[in-house]
Amino acid sequence: MSKQFNEVIDQLNKTCKIMNVDNNELEILRKPDRIIEISLPVLMDNGRVKVFTGFRVQYNNIRGPYKGGIRFHPKVNLDEVKSLAFWMTIKCAVANIPYGGGKGGVIVDVKKLSQGELERLSRAYARGFADFIGPLKDVPAPDVYTNPQIMAWIMDEYSRIKGENTPGVVTGKPVEINGSLGRDTATSLGGFFVFEQVLDKMKIKKNQINLAVQGFGNVGMNFALIAYNAGYKITAVSDSKGAIYNEKGLNIKEVVSHKQITGSVINFKNAKNITNEKLLELPNEILIPAALENAINKKNANKIKAKIILELGNGPVTQEAEIKLQKKHILIIPDVLANSGGVIVSYFEWVQNLTNYYWEQTKVEADLKKQIINAFKIVWQIMESQNNNDMRTAAYIVGIRRLVNALKIRGIK
Ligand code: NAD
Repeated sequence: MSKQFNEVIDQLNKTCKIMNVDNNELEILRKPDRIIEISLPVLMDNGRVKVFTGFRVQYNNIRGPYKGGIRFHPKVNLDEVKSLAFWMTIKCAVANIPYGGGKGGVIVDVKKLSQGELERLSRAYARGFADFIGPLKDVPAPDVYTNPQIMAWIMDEYSRIKGENTPGVVTGKPVEINGSLGRDTATSLGGFFVFEQVLDKMKIKKNQINLAVQGFGNVGMNFALIAYNAGYKITAVSDSKGAIYNEKGLNIKEVVSHKQITGSVINFKNAKNITNEKLLELPNEILIPAALENAINKKNANKIKAKIILELGNGPVTQEAEIKLQKKHILIIPDVLANSGGVIVSYFEWVQNLTNYYWEQTKVEADLKKQIINAFKIVWQIMESQNNNDMRTAAYIVGIRRLVNALKIRGIK
């Protein structure tokens, strides 16, 4: 077992110990149901075939079909996909939606592919996994470097193979082909609802805090926009090329246009460039990691000055870092709650696909708010009853309790 998944299982063991979970159930939750690795041959523009490696980890489906995104990234590996699949299992249980957990990935640098190559790779993924995915089996969605267009290709390829239009096989599709209104901003909006609940509980006012957002992709950018439009001051944002800082606050709408034109947030006219590391260590009260795993680790944990970390990305804080942050009384709003808005609205999209009846955006957002605030309230209550500030363990208790109950009721053969 390698490092990241090791940490995942440590967290599971730790929580199950607090909860006195029966060893039989724990044994099941410690391992994914199924791991699939396939070769994906793709005809490149230069006429040569390149074989990519694709993964799908189906972690657990005791509460419903496997559910989880597909990541296209050069550093994708099985250890990571297993960890992400486990987190999806917990996340869907915390959000109380009828899904299990899964995740997929392809080892690829999409920045080096043409549009045609990207389409052929996405279709190859759908063909390779066609027997394993499906609306009632396993429902993929976008993740890092995959997007609605890629979901459209996967849906189209799968529908051709099955001989029937099957929109419910993936979520995060474009609205024109059975996607849901509000899905593109759902992760960020859900995170924002949770964030405001926490501020309310801690009696912190909007004008008392500065925000720093790491990662300016789908999740980070939309969160920054929502928070900016709601009147919060965001003094720093970053992407893979670097970070920018203005202590008076950034005009996020202008930063978005700048990124659209130049491809990055750096060199924005009303800010100074700083390093990605520096952004994480700013004296801002709120830090929002929205990029990849392990951003806050044992090397930089002691330099973190934020009072609250809102984990919009998956797994941004390592276990070693978390111990240090907790000693400093920094509140971590855990990924399995903070970014669950994405999968909640994916669930709404799937419901719309299965019923063939499409909702207005106001309904999507109102139902998202209700669902995620309910999840928040239970997690917060458990945290208070544990008399600590360990919101991750509280969220795991909520999720694992539901999983264990489902296992007990369905029965273990
Ligand atoms: P994305 O590909 O749209 O954006 C990722 C962003 O992170 C890009 O701007 C990239 O430049 C930036 N980045 C990469 N390395 C960085 C670094 N070292 N420092 C600063 N920025 C860096 O991906 P996304 O969909 O926004 O996902 C971001 C995170 O949120 C991931 O952890 C993902 O698993 C998680 N997540 C996404 C969703 C969703 O609905 N998209 C849902 C739940 C969780």
